[in-house]
Amino acid sequence: MARKVLVLGEVRDGALRNVSFEAIAAGKTIAEGGEVVGVLLGDSVTALADKLIHYGADRVVVVEDPKLKNYSSDGFSQAFLAVVESESPEGIVFGHTALGKDLSPKVASRLSTGLISDATGVEVEGGNLVFTRPIYSGKAFEKKIVTDGIIFASIRPNNIPSLEADESRSGDVSSVSAEIKDLRTIIKDVVRKATEGVDLSEAKIIVSGGRGVKSADGFEPLKELAAVLGGAVGASRGACDADYCDYSLQIGQTGKVVTPDLYIACGISGAIQHLAGMSNSKVIVAINKDPEANIFKVADYGIVGDLFEVVPLLTEEFKKLKV
Ligand code: FAD
Repeated sequence: MARKVLVLGEVRDGALRNVSFEAIAAGKTIAEGGEVVGVLLGDSVTALADKLIHYGADRVVVVEDPKLKNYSSDGFSQAFLAVVESESPEGIVFGHTALGKDLSPKVASRLSTGLISDATGVEVEGGNLVFTRPIYSGKAFEKKIVTDGIIFASIRPNNIPSLEADESRSGDVSSVSAEIKDLRTIIKDVVRKATEGVDLSEAKIIVSGGRGVKSADGFEPLKELAAVLGGAVGASRGACDADYCDYSLQIGQTGKVVTPDLYIACGISGAIQHLAGMSNSKVIVAINKDPEANIFKVADYGIVGDLFEVVPLLTEEFKKLKV
């Protein structure tokens, strides 16, 4: 059954986040041959519309308003609902990012529809559209179908591959006007913490440190390895609690959930709460002095050794491969 599917293009610092392109790929599956319409909300975002089309959107609808300069759930939900009213979609896809996690339940409740949150896959199986999502902190996966209402899903970054960009694709870009009013929160300015390198939630490679790193300086070899691999640095809560690094790096049940292609855990014991945030990584490498450490149970490759010896050796070897 062909459907019209709205896909939110998520903009950060003037650029589209990769999860937007992954959401378009999911939208294509949900559309089953129907139309995928990209949606851009912001104060000056129209210039990004072509990129959504290159990645597979058939056309793009834009809501521009100075009140949408910074994200607020009131403002963005009003703008998105105005697009829903004008387009009457049968499907909606958001990224399961901080923004998507905040906005999707609000929009779903306003539309009185369900929400499949944190989906890691969507396929057509036996004539049904079947979503996969992790449950019990990633220990099991459930399959879900939607039987009624709008098919609304938020997708976990780094799980559904985006389509190849095709710069020859073109499509219509139109605008919808929305009355953005009664904002209970107005964000005047966003001051970001200076973070080095790649965004953790979208990184394909993560080098993560735990209490075994022993100090803030102990993170330096991990940063070097991450830089050589073009990856991001993450951490266990143990490392954050010990003040070796900022909490924005924390991965786990109460931190970020990541699914990179490669996760290198250094001096991390593998507590269940840490595994909840990384065990679905495609390849896990664990470096730990303790051969009994729990992290080895989820690791594809385990190195029993001192991270301060192993990590610099890895960095040197990867440097050679790059030459
Ligand atoms: P440790 O458990 O102390 O492990 C350090 C490891 O480093 C050990 O295995 C040791 O063998 C190894 N090591 C030491 N020196 C070296 C060396 N030189 N070379 C190699 N290996 C070495 N934790 C999270 O990570 N994320 C969360 O989101 C999270 N949420 C939580 C929520 C709740 C409600 C609770 C109760 C806990 C949560 N925790 C979370 C904490 C979690 O239970 C663990 O305490 C924490 O993950 C331990 O961090 P760690 O592995 O770095 O430290």
